[in-house]
Amino acid sequence: MPKLASDLSSVINHRLNELTPSRIRSFDQQISSIPNIIKLTIGEPDLDTPEHIKQAAINDIKANDSHYAPQSGKPELKEAIANYLKRSLGVDYNPESEICVTVGATGALNNVFMSILNPGDKILVPTPVWALYFQLIKVIGAIPIQIDTSKDGFILTPDHLQEVLENEGKGAKAIILTDPSNPTGRVYHAELLEQLAHVITKNHLFSITDEIYGELVYGNNQHHSLSQYIPERNILISGFSKAYAMTGWRLGYIAAPNQIMKSIIKMNSYLITSVTNNVQVAATEALTNGQNDPINARKVYEKRLNFMKSGLEKLGFELATPQGAFYIFAKIPKKFGQDDVTFATELAKKAHVGVTPGRYFGKGGQGYVRMSYASSTKNLKEALKRITDFLNSIE
Ligand code: PMP
Repeated sequence: MPKLASDLSSVINHRLNELTPSRIRSFDQQISSIPNIIKLTIGEPDLDTPEHIKQAAINDIKANDSHYAPQSGKPELKEAIANYLKRSLGVDYNPESEICVTVGATGALNNVFMSILNPGDKILVPTPVWALYFQLIKVIGAIPIQIDTSKDGFILTPDHLQEVLENEGKGAKAIILTDPSNPTGRVYHAELLEQLAHVITKNHLFSITDEIYGELVYGNNQHHSLSQYIPERNILISGFSKAYAMTGWRLGYIAAPNQIMKSIIKMNSYLITSVTNNVQVAATEALTNGQNDPINARKVYEKRLNFMKSGLEKLGFELATPQGAFYIFAKIPKKFGQDDVTFATELAKKAHVGVTPGRYFGKGGQGYVRMSYASSTKNLKEALKRITDFLNSIE
């Protein structure tokens, strides 16, 4: 095994070196060695990719589709994405010049941050939030400004946004909104987005919306997008990981106004040249003939959500009204105290159930834990039983 030459010890990009590893992942690794543990820590569908989507990729490989695709994506897929955005949100994007296909939504986020942020730029991040944003922003040398939304039920209000922009967020270039939210499952309704759009415009901000869970909303809730109100200043990001159970396929996309898209496509060509052909063909199949796939997934998750919700509420957890994605953000019952790391650690050690401490998702998450219900009903039933026994054992 080669050992790094001693004179190269500072060879790593210093910003990368300074970033701490994900606490979500390290906590997950820490509890993974506990025997017979049921992990509700994972943000990944347990369902299989639908058969017709897999078959489309197989057929494409057999047809020798083995040359570079265009840098912004295959025309058929970009067309399918534009059609999907039109039918689901009523928004108009030109498939040729306003859509770019990326390696997962993560690849889309990386591309967008690199395309618009310079070192020293501020970007507003309502929290609690999927913590990877912080790392992607910091590695560029830009500055994430956290906006703690816990006092407003984990929803950013227009007044709060305006207040931040007049204080610590003064001069910010952009805001990123995750809707539906990971980790809280909260969904922004249409009027609120419209009001936020107004504040964003008034303050000359860019917005980026991470809509990866857009197909997974429950009950009377509906998914909307800032692109419906301010398409001229919004960059929409989404992907196939969640609604089509395709995490390992690594496919996402960006929709944005043409002038920004030109830079995004340039960046895509530097970062990846283009996305794997058969994966793009599979995604085209998903959007063209798979309209029922997200509906089926939604039914499965909604049942599990209702089961977990009523069980946890009976136990004294206060839930931040989950409306979408596949997470429950639960306030730890008073009788346990408010330390989320202690609670999650004890629950893992004593009850063999893994949940993620809320503070790992940024400001406002202390005292909460995130539970993912992207796990089988059998596992969820057993997990709830173990949590019940654990809480009953505390006096
Ligand atoms: N955004 C959010 C809010 C997420 O929770 C995740 C996955 N955990 C992603 C993006 C990444 O999605 P992808 O698999 O498409 O990279």
